[in-house]
Amino acid sequence: MKIAILRERAEGETRVAATPETAGKLSALGFEIAIEAGAGAASRYPDSAYEAAGASIGRDARTTLANAEVVLCVRRPAPSQLRSVRSGALLIGALDPFGNEGEIAAIARAGVVAFSLELLPRITRAQTMDILSSQANLAGYQSVIEATSVFGRAMPMMMTAAGTVRPAKVFVMGAGVAGLQAIATARRLGAVVSATDVRPAAKEQVESLGAKFIAVEDDEFRQAETAGGYAKEMSAEYRDKQAELTAQHIAKQDIVITTALIPGRAAPRLIDRDVVESMSEGSVIVDLAAERGGNVEMTKPGAMIEHNGVKIIGFTNMQGRIPATASQLYARNLIAFLEPMLDKAERELKLDWDDELIKATLITREGAIVHPGIAAAAE
Ligand code: NAD
Repeated sequence: MKIAILRERAEGETRVAATPETAGKLSALGFEIAIEAGAGAASRYPDSAYEAAGASIGRDARTTLANAEVVLCVRRPAPSQLRSVRSGALLIGALDPFGNEGEIAAIARAGVVAFSLELLPRITRAQTMDILSSQANLAGYQSVIEATSVFGRAMPMMMTAAGTVRPAKVFVMGAGVAGLQAIATARRLGAVVSATDVRPAAKEQVESLGAKFIAVEDDEFRQAETAGGYAKEMSAEYRDKQAELTAQHIAKQDIVITTALIPGRAAPRLIDRDVVESMSEGSVIVDLAAERGGNVEMTKPGAMIEHNGVKIIGFTNMQGRIPATASQLYARNLIAFLEPMLDKAERELKLDWDDELIKATLITREGAIVHPGIAAAAE
């Protein structure tokens, strides 16, 4: 049975869906692995490393995809690639279905059986497959690295013969997977770190990393978490109180990293223009929610801008800026999802369509969009 790995075509996508490590693992199980030429180049994985791991290199998408029963990808395949995916093949990746229903319908029409791993439930069994967590963690780390690289000052306190340098103050808004890693990274670099979130459970996590928790802790806050562990949208009254508290705090910060998201909605606005203008010249904001509309009024998705001497970084695909590590973890997530579908003795696919994880992530099958939420949005 053949498993194909595509070279990503989406603009700015540097990651790849298999590394020599995961290709080697599948190859050792007796599967035929085909990598589209140059697929790992932007992630620093040359074709020769895949060949050494037992994979073959396809010179183009058509050759790579010929007779493949499984196709692994990061983003949705380009239309030119989709044409060569055979009907009935499995396609596994981060297919970003919501808001892209037209493209998903095209995948359905091609007869492809598509799984979108952003839809995995966040249960213990799915943790090894959780692409949202593996990539958000790296985005949180990289957000601090990007901020420090343009900050122009040192992060830790330094007591030198030439005098003392004060530590940088870093404030992280949204203490989910990305935010907690941003806190940990900024702490490792020696900054004085504080953080906020609307979920009460975040307080203990923030404090356990040695950061100060800043939030209006009223009755609404104490109940502000869904059963799934996600943030709820807060009342206008709470938002106003919280905005006032954080505005005063932000004026005294050197670096602010925003990561706040609410599933299925546009990112909440946390920082208005006047708050940016209250910050000192040379301060830096990184808006990790840029791809979903941004937490900061002036964020320009995909770019760094400067307003009143404050740099605002709105890079999308932050994890793609450390592509080798992002691909390494993403590829391992994919293999963890794929492995239970493989009959290793017979070297063929064996899917349990009733499995909770398969049901949650399956979006197209037998020519139709089968995920109820996406099918409804596509009508
Ligand atoms: P996310 O990316 O949806 O949101 C990022 C953070 O922003 C969240 O912590 C959220 O509470 C916060 N936020 C939303 N609105 C805000 C506002 N107005 N002000 C400040 N903060 C705001 O979240 P995530 O990183 O995917 O994590 C969400 C939850 O899922 C967490 O509880 C996390 O621990 C949990 N989780 C569980 C598993 C698992 O069990 N397998 C895996 C990953 C995450």
